[in-house]
Amino acid sequence: MKEIIFLEPVFKEMIWGGTRLRDDFSYEIPGDHTGECWAVSAHPNGDCTVNDGAWKGKSLRWLWEEHRELFGGQKGDVFPLLVKIIDAKADLSIQVHPDDVYAKEHENGALGKTECWYILDCDPDASIVIGHYAKSKEELESMIADKRWNDLIRVLPVHKGDFFQIEPGTVHAIKKGTLILETQQNSDITYRLYDYDRLSDGKPRQLHIEKSIDVIRCPHKDQKGMRSIKSFEDARVEQLVSCSYYSVEKIDLDGRAAFDQKESFRIFSVLDGSGSIDGTPISKGAHFILPYGYGTYQLSGTMMLISSYVTKIE
Ligand code: ZN
Repeated sequence: MKEIIFLEPVFKEMIWGGTRLRDDFSYEIPGDHTGECWAVSAHPNGDCTVNDGAWKGKSLRWLWEEHRELFGGQKGDVFPLLVKIIDAKADLSIQVHPDDVYAKEHENGALGKTECWYILDCDPDASIVIGHYAKSKEELESMIADKRWNDLIRVLPVHKGDFFQIEPGTVHAIKKGTLILETQQNSDITYRLYDYDRLSDGKPRQLHIEKSIDVIRCPHKDQKGMRSIKSFEDARVEQLVSCSYYSVEKIDLDGRAAFDQKESFRIFSVLDGSGSIDGTPISKGAHFILPYGYGTYQLSGTMMLISSYVTKIE
């Protein structure tokens, strides 16, 4: 049987971050403005380290480069996914990501970014930015030129348990009082459209208006819901999304259930409760990967997990 790869998260301080990664997850965080936990990442800006077993001390990026067999021989220069927990104490800037085609041409061959958000918790009056109200590129350009941000930006109420798929070209922002589990393509290309005219060290943060206008889809169209639920013994497995980059599932367990690891590899984050996988204890805040060919595994306990894998292209 192959080993479970348990990972040590990397933390990022952000001007908009808070302390919930310590308060809710008991992580040792670097300061009182910690915005992001990079839970499963092989990105050079935050490469997770294996914290147990045969690969202890090695980074996920090293495993991807040296032991591709653990990932079913998946192709690609970079580990394809990045999983984060985001604690937004203040509003994040309003942004948009390019798709693979635009990023390849304008960002030195980089990947575009599709991402998705599961709302772990939020304040009762919390909101989120998804989309905009411009009917055409011309209207988008004139609303931006005239700084009609309140007419342009689409703000929606948000609730614990909501899920959003953010396709490239979608205007989006996480707003204050929101705790999110984000699963995304492993890319950092972000165009900042608007930052509420805030100052950071006395200066406004850099915006990327031209590139934003290039990539924003007009008019905005919501992604239609794809959530579906199946039961396996004592587990309820809800598919949150399946797109060409990733599939994401939420697992609610109260008891025990056996599954078969048939993907090239599968990522898990324990987001509530505790239990075990094949007898190894796991609890809220644990993140791990089941490698290729792991086979049958048994989860037991009372917990909520979010799991993701690279969608097979049929
Ligand atoms: Zn984003």
